[in-house]
Amino acid sequence: MSSIAIIGAGVGGLAAAVKLSALGHDVEVFESSAFVGGKCRTEEFNGYRFDVGPSLFTLPAVYRDLFLKSGAPLEEELTLVALDPAFEYRFADGQRLNYYASRGDLMQSITDTFGANAASDWQRLIDRGSEMWRVARGPFIQSPIGSLWSMIRRSGFLRDARIIAPHRTLRGIGRSIVSEPHLQMIIDRYATYTGSDPRKAPAALLTIPYIEHTFGAWHISGGVGTLSEVLAVRARALGARIHLSSDVATIEIHDGVVTGIRLSDGTLREANIVISNADASHTFNSLIDAPRESARLAKESASLSGFALLLGLRGRTPGLGHNTVLFPTDYNAEFDALFGEHPHVIAEPTIYICSPDDPEMRPHADSESWFVLVNTPGTEFIDWENDAFVEDYKNKIIDQIEARGFQVRERIEVCEVRTPAHLERESRAPGGGIYGKAGNSRTAALSRTKNTTKIRGLYSVGGSVHPGGGLPMVGMGAEIVCKAIGQAN
Ligand SMILES: Cc1cc2nc3c(=O)[nH]c(=O)nc-3n(C[C@H](O)[C@H](O)[C@H](O)COP(=O)(O)OP(=O)(O)OC[C@H]3O[C@@H](n4cnc5c(N)ncnc54)[C@H](O)[C@@H]3O)c2cc1C
Repeated sequence: MSSIAIIGAGVGGLAAAVKLSALGHDVEVFESSAFVGGKCRTEEFNGYRFDVGPSLFTLPAVYRDLFLKSGAPLEEELTLVALDPAFEYRFADGQRLNYYASRGDLMQSITDTFGANAASDWQRLIDRGSEMWRVARGPFIQSPIGSLWSMIRRSGFLRDARIIAPHRTLRGIGRSIVSEPHLQMIIDRYATYTGSDPRKAPAALLTIPYIEHTFGAWHISGGVGTLSEVLAVRARALGARIHLSSDVATIEIHDGVVTGIRLSDGTLREANIVISNADASHTFNSLIDAPRESARLAKESASLSGFALLLGLRGRTPGLGHNTVLFPTDYNAEFDALFGEHPHVIAEPTIYICSPDDPEMRPHADSESWFVLVNTPGTEFIDWENDAFVEDYKNKIIDQIEARGFQVRERIEVCEVRTPAHLERESRAPGGGIYGKAGNSRTAALSRTKNTTKIRGLYSVGGSVHPGGGLPMVGMGAEIVCKAIGQAN
């Protein structure tokens, strides 16, 4: 049995705690904030509940597997609700598309809105994403990342590389398959799922629409943050101890071997394995002395951050679905603003509205909770502590929403703002980045921080390390780390 210290009770840290406790290890989790979940949390104000991080749950099989192998099935711990349509996309020219998770309904919807050719192009896009998923899942996504050379030498590498197209960008491959301009905007938006620019992000992100179609888009009753809570309950039930308000100052290392962690209050906790669920930049800049990895990370740009409004509204909005995306007139202008030389916010960004039709998330039937998110640069580019700027930007976003036909201002009962500064403070995300470093290169997936390190006994898990951000990837990363550690003797 190993004594294992996990730094951070984000979803990755909690998933690792569940699995390793089930494997018989002695597990302690140290979380600097007063709550579990990191970015994945649900907050409540006057009876209105909001997912302040993930609001869309995909590939639930990752967590189904974890729960099944560690006790009662996931569905006994929480209620999954299939979203179909998964999204309504509203374009600035007035076009609207109901985007279904089920293939037949989606093809019909695209045919009705943009014509049969557009639908068959989209089908080809999904098929390409499916091929990519088939070749990337086992050797790349669900396996520890090796050196570039070891990957190139792997048998079948050339065949797989042709499918994954590492030389192409998401936009490049998307536009070579789909010519309908509205659908091209939907493809571009998948880059923002990894906090990146579609003009630079890898073509392999085509796996995202494939995953949404094949494995569905899901809500969790009461909020997606419930996932973090049930992970913590399961970890504790298996014997893990979760210490909140316990900030880790350093990882203790002697002669290249981990010996424990030191808390900010000076307390030393011995452990022969340490797993950092903190952002990789924080781990390698602050928790250990690792100049090479630290310098490598410093060269990469931070992922996008987000500015969110939590709106508790009187009354209901007729026809509003669970997820609505309001695309801007000029999507390129938004990417230029976010990823240009001087990143800044723009007046007309893409606006995502999540309004779950979930009685557990509103105070009464004649009310609704909106989580409104726009992508923004993080704290290194904008002073998000400037109250006047934040107030002004909040009003601009509400103006935009109203300009798109939604009456909001008169109905507000709760209006909370979450800026990149909150994200940085509350989940220790450097710069407020949603996904660690941006995947702004065609080979970004191969250059992420690995789950294992050169220091014996030190591992990394979470959205900023392999295989990347988002709940499914983070869960798969935890699985990779737990496999590497193995069963207790
Ligand atoms: C606004 C927003 C929307 C998102 N939408 C989606 C979505 O719809 N679907 C989806 O799948 N994903 C989404 N994501 C991404 C998803 O939330 C993350 O990829 C995932 O939750 C990250 O988990 P993690 O394991 O990396 O931990 P994190 O959430 O990053 O948590 C890390 C934890 O470590 C703690 N910590 C850090 N340093 C220390 C230290 N020194 N000592 C002790 N504790 C420490 C932090 O306090 C934090 O609790 C979204 C994220 C955000 C912010």
